[in-house]
Amino acid sequence: EVVVLRLGHRPGRDERTTTHVGLTARALGADRLFLAGPGASRQDTIEDITDRFGGPFEVETTDSPTKVIRDWNGRVAHLTMYGLPVQDVEAEIREAHREKPLLVVVGAEKVPFEVYEHADWNVGVTNQPHSEIAGLAVFLDRLFEGRELDREWEDADSVVVPKETGKRVESVEE
Ligand code: SAM
Repeated sequence: EVVVLRLGHRPGRDERTTTHVGLTARALGADRLFLAGPGASRQDTIEDITDRFGGPFEVETTDSPTKVIRDWNGRVAHLTMYGLPVQDVEAEIREAHREKPLLVVVGAEKVPFEVYEHADWNVGVTNQPHSEIAGLAVFLDRLFEGRELDREWEDADSVVVPKETGKRVESVEE
């Protein structure tokens, strides 16, 4: 199981980013998402997409993200520009994930030092500052070695039919 924890959403500023962290987690193979604090307001939007385009993908909210990390019964990878290069640690993380669930933590504003200390890996997707959405996307693609791109979706109402040009969305028959 791969679960994403989104920390530190700033009200008014991070609405779209939090939604996009959730949609990226879902699209690229995570099983579940924890939203902390005001980020919880994005739960419905992400669940609407899962209702429409399929799952499984669960969204939960938490008032205490550090407790989620402390109580996590598995391994923790925290994505940060200060961490070890993803290309150096991905094999070890993949190996560990075969045995135990993986919590992938992404921040918004300053991440408490406790998170760095509690993480089994602090992982940099480059050591340049960029975005939690981009960091998560590259990390998940590395973790799953691209297999997430061929995922089958369950219980979808709609499915996109890939087209060279134009847009086609079909309703799924019950
Ligand atoms: N300035 C904040 C700090 O020092 O913790 C980070 C702000 S950054 C916009 C928000 C989040 O994007 C970070 O918490 C981290 O999860 C992710 N992020 C940004 N750059 C990253 C990188 N190079 N590798 C991995 N994650 C990154």
